Amino acid sequence: MLEPKPYSSWLMRVLLLALVVLALAACRLVGTLPQTPAVDISQLATVTVVAMVARQPDVLPPEPTSTTVAPTATPTALPTLPPSPTPTATPIPPTATPAPPRVGIQVGHWKTEELPDELARLRTSVGAIVGGYTELQVNLDIAQRVVALLEQQGVVVDLLPATIPPAYLADAFVSVHADGSTSTGRRGYKLATPWRTSRASAHLYNAMQAEYGAATGLPLDDAITFNMRGYYAFSYNRHTHAIARTTPAVIIEMGFLSNPQDRAFMLERADTVAQGIVNGILRYLNERDPTDLAALEPPNFDRREVLPGSTIPVYATASENSAILITASEGFTITPFEEREGWYYAFVRGQDQRVVGWISKARYESQARVATPTVTNP
Ligand SMILES: [Zn+2]
Repeated sequence: MLEPKPYSSWLMRVLLLALVVLALAACRLVGTLPQTPAVDISQLATVTVVAMVARQPDVLPPEPTSTTVAPTATPTALPTLPPSPTPTATPIPPTATPAPPRVGIQVGHWKTEELPDELARLRTSVGAIVGGYTELQVNLDIAQRVVALLEQQGVVVDLLPATIPPAYLADAFVSVHADGSTSTGRRGYKLATPWRTSRASAHLYNAMQAEYGAATGLPLDDAITFNMRGYYAFSYNRHTHAIARTTPAVIIEMGFLSNPQDRAFMLERADTVAQGIVNGILRYLNERDPTDLAALEPPNFDRREVLPGSTIPVYATASENSAILITASEGFTITPFEEREGWYYAFVRGQDQRVVGWISKARYESQARVATPTVTNP
């Protein structure tokens, strides 16, 4: 009667051993599971879309070639994905992550020798040279500091030479220059928007003026020139290598290189000068409404030619009581760029004269329309 005991004991041992082996195998299987987590497709899709959105702002996408393979095609990209966020009941759509703002900082006179044929006349434009200092040197030094400071704030920045990429599109464009004058007493900074100023450009101008003046303490010199407002890089309707029509833009003359006080400030307080520019740009970016696309549209008026027998007085201000700058007659062309209560602020040109002043809207409208010049950079 004792016989069955050893047999059953042996059988039990075999069974127990088998169970232990099975259990161990099962544990090993289970143990491997956490190393290959289930992939949440919705999260993956979000991450992929965000990554693609982040690549979007490139103004000049690489030239597509027949051999280009999309990098997302390789599954090996998966292990480099950031840790998956905790799933929530209401997943955040990919559009919740806006693209960072993009800003173009142009170094005045940098690589002018590389300007395209359409701007060949500017290839020798070296800028101000005073006492062994060149404007380019100062522009480049400060522009590089501006780029570093903006990048610290998460702004995508393009440091641009004299040659602007065709139809350059950005949230703001600032061309950096320093002034020169034969009069060493002249000092201060200048700011100008394109002739046709969008609300966004005007906003950028105001933000820059407030912040640059406050940071540097330099006085504002409002004697801005034709060359500033008609700056070639603004002239999208004349040049291919210019900003896009809707890019808010200003040009700044940071101070006079020919003035000892301004020059010392730009050379010795370069960080302060750069910070002033950066503060202005950031103020604009923070204050603007990115959804207000109408703010980016510059005004667009017809160019008109003065008819035979007509005369149009051009006034210094929007008032018939102000000084008459010139009287436009037959053949003069009038290009308005700003409208205000029955008046146009306009560029008037004819008989080797050119002037910017105010004309009566009614008088302008009775003149002949001139064919719009071909837009090379729509
Ligand atoms: Zn310059």
